[in-house]
Amino acid sequence: MRVGVIGGGQLARMMVSPAVALGIEIRVLAESADSSARLAATVIGDYREAETVLGFAADVDVVTFDHEHVPQEVLARLEASGVTVRPGRDALEAAQDKIRMRERLAALGVPMPGWAVIRTEADLESFLAEHGGVAVVKTPRGGYDGKGVRVVRASADAADWLAEGELLAEELVDFRRELAQQVARRPSGEMAAWPLVETIQRDGVCAEVLAPAPDAGDLAVEARGIAETIAAGLEVTGVLAVELFQAADGRLLVNELAMRPHNSGHWSIDGAVTSQFEQHLRAVLDLPLGDPSPTAPWAVMVNVLGGPEAATMPDRYPAAFAAERGVKFHSYGKASRPGRKVGHVTATGTDLADVRARARAAAGFFEA
Ligand code: ADP
Repeated sequence: MRVGVIGGGQLARMMVSPAVALGIEIRVLAESADSSARLAATVIGDYREAETVLGFAADVDVVTFDHEHVPQEVLARLEASGVTVRPGRDALEAAQDKIRMRERLAALGVPMPGWAVIRTEADLESFLAEHGGVAVVKTPRGGYDGKGVRVVRASADAADWLAEGELLAEELVDFRRELAQQVARRPSGEMAAWPLVETIQRDGVCAEVLAPAPDAGDLAVEARGIAETIAAGLEVTGVLAVELFQAADGRLLVNELAMRPHNSGHWSIDGAVTSQFEQHLRAVLDLPLGDPSPTAPWAVMVNVLGGPEAATMPDRYPAAFAAERGVKFHSYGKASRPGRKVGHVTATGTDLADVRARARAAAGFFEA
């Protein structure tokens, strides 16, 4: 069994250990020789070039992804030449383009913030008038970590982006917290859902994940239903992450989708019977899915971001390991740059406050 992963980031890297354990061959199409996934058999090439991707795909049984940026034209060429692509081109479109995502989710009847496609300043003025004079404007493609998201109060605030093409406008949700629901689906339709988690962002970047989301109550059932509706409705194969808002008025609203392992599921490596990375491999190979149950009452994941110093995570292991013997450490083997995700830590246990304190203390060893 040979899985080809397009993109050499940390998500591809974290698929390598379960692939090794299961004896699944994994190959990566990476951007450069020093990619995070360089431990796997790696081909260096540009994922935007059809010939490069077709050549890479010729030696594997299924092609999957570390990121969602492979152009639709390249995906169409792959599918037309008989390559098994999971998730498929049609599903992936809803994770590549936020306008297409809103259209597809609306057709499935999924709860979302109020939204509209904005083509002119007049469109945005009328959306603002209908939504209390404020809107969240998003570029449909290429956004990540909050880049491509802007709160606007006048159409002029988005004039520069509008000159480049159509935009998505959304109601500014007054949210109590952000949540994420992950589910895996295999081509035969079997699905497995991890518990609903709470995600805490800082400066638009995921900082911490609490699994399960505290005091979720009925929201957990609702979120799971939403994720399963989306996975089945879009025929997603592999892992799907649904980012959600818990609005102040109690509504659960879909923010966006990722069709691959996701930062909100890193806790599952150390806190669930089957991690999102193993499950993704099982799902794209159409194998029976593993048990997604948590192995401890609580897991807390804290991201490690690069600081101004060039120190790597392993440089700080002696002190960190001595202080936090129960915490699990993950380094992505990437050069440290300020704000870049270079690793994460996960603590598990029975008392949330204690688990969170240990995870934070462990991550603290890597702050500049
Ligand atoms: P990205 O693709 O960069 O991750 P998102 O669409 O997830 O962009 O938005 C980034 C962050 O901006 C969200 O995590 C949330 O905190 C905030 N945000 C996005 N959409 C809205 C909205 N409609 N109302 C309020 N906050 C929002």
